[in-house]
Amino acid sequence: MIVVMKSSCSEQNIEHVLTFLEKQGLTGHPSVGVERTVIGVLGAVGPTGTRSGIGGINPSLGETLEGLPGVECVLRVSKPYKLASREFHPEDTTVEVCVPCVSTGVVTLGSQEIVMMAGPCTVESEKQLMTTAAAVRKQGAVMLRGGAFKPSTSPYGFRGLGEAGLKLLAKARSEFGMAVITEVMTPTDVSLVCEYADILQIGTRNMQNYMLLDEVGRTKTPVVLKRGMSATIEEWLLAAEYILSQGNRNVILCERGIRTFEKVTRNTMDISAIPLIEYLSHLPIISDPSQGTGRRDLVGPLSLASIAAGTDGLLIEVHPNPDEALKDGAQSLTIEQFQSLMPQVQAVAKAVGRTFITA
Ligand code: PEP
Ligand code: MN
Repeated sequence: MIVVMKSSCSEQNIEHVLTFLEKQGLTGHPSVGVERTVIGVLGAVGPTGTRSGIGGINPSLGETLEGLPGVECVLRVSKPYKLASREFHPEDTTVEVCVPCVSTGVVTLGSQEIVMMAGPCTVESEKQLMTTAAAVRKQGAVMLRGGAFKPSTSPYGFRGLGEAGLKLLAKARSEFGMAVITEVMTPTDVSLVCEYADILQIGTRNMQNYMLLDEVGRTKTPVVLKRGMSATIEEWLLAAEYILSQGNRNVILCERGIRTFEKVTRNTMDISAIPLIEYLSHLPIISDPSQGTGRRDLVGPLSLASIAAGTDGLLIEVHPNPDEALKDGAQSLTIEQFQSLMPQVQAVAKAVGRTFITA
């Protein structure tokens, strides 16, 4: 349920509604817009003791709320996800990440800014990570990606360096001033990974690992939630709802391609998801054309398409020698390819009125 306040309402009117909701055992989430304030209402149990959720709060409560001073009307949220929905929170959510190498010291995801997160699929060695970090930073990437805990389809594949990989990421962060994004796979690793990461990545295979979503939801660290490879948009937003409902509001969605009948590409990059998410949700969205296509020749074109479609950031795999990569070599850009991509993404960002943050 959403309480829409009159544009002329006062601070006291808003406070009054919030106190009223609290007395009913509900919580109000005010969202202050340019035109007006709306208050999203959350709570599992209605005033009559019936189980209601926000979709089904009893009708007399709605009527009472509509009678309070400053209230314009009360609307039901039609979507199963609430906190993640645009209806509940009309203003864009922005997620701030501390990035020492940029002049302002922060990057704001979900704003006019677009950010490049680049690096190897997997942290393999100090030399591989440092070489890649130096190269992508030089070209304007401000965030460094790299998996220390890697999900592997085959149990015989490389599963990452674990904490040693996190330590290398921390070293690269202090050397180049880049923010670090890295995957966390289990609830028990969350506190460890939080010590090293500026952004936690939830991988496609874990989008519906609800214990993990709950656990990252209990932190304040920004979370990139990848779309499950077979997840609908609704399932994806419901996964985001898990994190949000635990109190972590710093959620960033990531389109990384979905399974279709097509076999020429590893996944089918769903570009339509980018504007769709913007329409359905207030959360920032980034795109990962590396997993999204599985082919390095397609990473450039899909990066440009993602920016044109409204992405807030790109997550791209780069390797100094992709043929020798322990993981995802076929989709990793060479350093030279990354170098030629950077001016192109900046040109498209400019064409659509966005600022590509490089320093
Ligand atoms: C990755 O980013 O390397 C990765 C494993 O991503 P995904 O979970 O989208 O496959
Ligand atoms: Mn990868």
